[in-house]
Amino acid sequence: MVQTMLAEERRTEERSAYAIAIRQLEAAAYYLNLDRSLLEVLKHPRRELIVHFPVKMDDGSIRVFTGYRVHHNPARGPAKGGIRYHPEVTLDETRALAMWMTWKCAVVNIPYSGAKGGVVCDPKRLSIHELENLTRRYITEISIMVGPESDIPAPDIGTNPQVMAWIMDTYSMHKGYTVPAVVTGKPVAIGGSEGRLEATGRGVTVVAHEAAKLRGFQLDGARVVIQGFGNVGSATAKLMHQAGAKVIAISDARGGIYNPNGLDIPNLLHCAGRDGCIQAYRDADQITNKELLELPCDILVPAAVHGVITSENAHNVRAKVIVEAANGPLTPDADRILQDNGVLVVPDILANAGGVVVSYFEWVQDLQAFFWEEEEVNARLEKVMRRSFEHVRQVAEKNKVDLRMGAYIIGVQRVAEATTIRGIYP
Ligand code: GLU
Repeated sequence: MVQTMLAEERRTEERSAYAIAIRQLEAAAYYLNLDRSLLEVLKHPRRELIVHFPVKMDDGSIRVFTGYRVHHNPARGPAKGGIRYHPEVTLDETRALAMWMTWKCAVVNIPYSGAKGGVVCDPKRLSIHELENLTRRYITEISIMVGPESDIPAPDIGTNPQVMAWIMDTYSMHKGYTVPAVVTGKPVAIGGSEGRLEATGRGVTVVAHEAAKLRGFQLDGARVVIQGFGNVGSATAKLMHQAGAKVIAISDARGGIYNPNGLDIPNLLHCAGRDGCIQAYRDADQITNKELLELPCDILVPAAVHGVITSENAHNVRAKVIVEAANGPLTPDADRILQDNGVLVVPDILANAGGVVVSYFEWVQDLQAFFWEEEEVNARLEKVMRRSFEHVRQVAEKNKVDLRMGAYIIGVQRVAEATTIRGIYP
């Protein structure tokens, strides 16, 4: 009976990112001895909006798209989080991602609460005009939630600085004046921040450096495998390469490339930029995404989608350290297996927080209309990431838990404290 229930629970989790998020929160609540009613508050998103909206396509037809925007717990400040354009976007996933944003902002101690949004679409199959029409209409539909003081969107999978520019313009057109602080990850020309494009990859590189030290090796000379070649994967490859690491394999949605002697990353970035895919790089063997995750290496960086390492393949992972550049790449079962096998996992809510940290810097610069130089942005980011890693390490050590639980203890505790101090209205 109990066995059947556990198996059923597992199946739900494999399907539901939100079920995983709840389970992680419950585990942290146990360590914090959190009041049951407070836990109930933290489990629920505060607001969820579902929109179905028409978009005029290039051939004159009209297509209806579905989008979401979710706010999790608002205790620590305005809602903050990316917008995802992907065919597999769901409300369940958006809820989980919003909750993870709450803990992420709290772990690195920036004054935001978590949000996430998404549209069910394949941006690669839309023309630039269709993408613009979709973006302007989606942001109009969710405008009752968005604003520089209430909810500040940013890029996520499938969106980029140009999409953020259309969001800023649409919101500003409705207001009748320019509001740069309504969205982050914008181009620098319209109030974006220096350093934002590479910020997540830079944060990943900083924590990889710290995790390597903890495991007794250097990032300089380490063999690194990266899954994903979007904004985060490509910036991570570039910055790790600059730090002296040997990036031996990398993949995109089509598959991976592998050279045990190391890939020439500047050349790879050039080839991929020219031909639009990493397969244009010649000096490597072709491998599948599955094979890539199982390569022997020092650091594995999943930088694509959630749920890529599960109980099925976790036993085959041969990395010393995993740095979760994606949100939720490991299932809880995989996490347990990896921990038993002595793999050090730097959790997503810490590892990929560099993006939202520089989003925060961008928002502060927009509100003050006073802009910083790139060196200043990078130095402040590196300081926040190093300090947060050290805090998580100390809390994990003190409570005899892994880094994920260390990060959850800090994040959940900060949000719980803010919720309690504010009190329940009315
Ligand atoms: N989408 C990114 C994340 O998951 C960035 C969010 C932001 O900058 O607000 O952290």
